Amino acid sequence: MATLFISDLHLSPERPEIIGLFLRFLEDRAKQAETLYILGDLFEYWIGDDAGAHTGYAPVLQGLRTLVDAGTPVFLMHGNRDFLLGSGFENATGVRLLPEPATIDLYGEPVLLMHGDTLCTDDVAYQKFRVMVRDPDWVAQFLGKDLKEREAIVRGLRETSKAAMATKKPEIMDVNQRTVESVMKEHRIRHLIHGHTHRPAQHEFLLGGVKAQRTVLGDWYDQGSVLVCSRENCVLENLA
Ligand code: MN
Repeated sequence: MATLFISDLHLSPERPEIIGLFLRFLEDRAKQAETLYILGDLFEYWIGDDAGAHTGYAPVLQGLRTLVDAGTPVFLMHGNRDFLLGSGFENATGVRLLPEPATIDLYGEPVLLMHGDTLCTDDVAYQKFRVMVRDPDWVAQFLGKDLKEREAIVRGLRETSKAAMATKKPEIMDVNQRTVESVMKEHRIRHLIHGHTHRPAQHEFLLGGVKAQRTVLGDWYDQGSVLVCSRENCVLENLA
């Protein structure tokens, strides 16, 4: 039995092959797993629980429901693209939302789970944007609009973000090591698992003189990145 971690699938009806890969993953690897953790950005965007079935995601919701009903608990943490996932999504799928960050017990070891965007503190413009869209007033105003308007706003934000990313240096969009270390110290943990940066790796470093590790999950643009943890170890795998 294994515990699986995935993130940054960016599922979108525009890329049906990745939705297919995810549905097959739910039917085999995830069904055999002890627990599945999804660390954010499962969806390319989520404009509200009331829109779920209208945006081409119905097979994904059904796939998650089938997995949960078959006995694999699924936990999901918000990413920056799908932070509007709420209780409607939980009720439809049986997936349980985790706060961000969350500490779990992984075979006796406390492990901190994050999406990862809050670790990218060198990207000051992004952090400012994040504060704006997480504001409860902004969210309430957004959810008060009809689906067409919400989709148009999200499309606009995606274009702005793409244009901004093209002008940023790659290192700006990676995590800041000092931020990583202070978060890990604050939560008194030696192992952090996150996604967001799309730079899959298992980093080892010393934290206060003791060995620590940061595992970064990869994205699902071309293939599926999965972290497979057992009692013995954690291994990053790619699904073809
Ligand atoms: Mn992200």
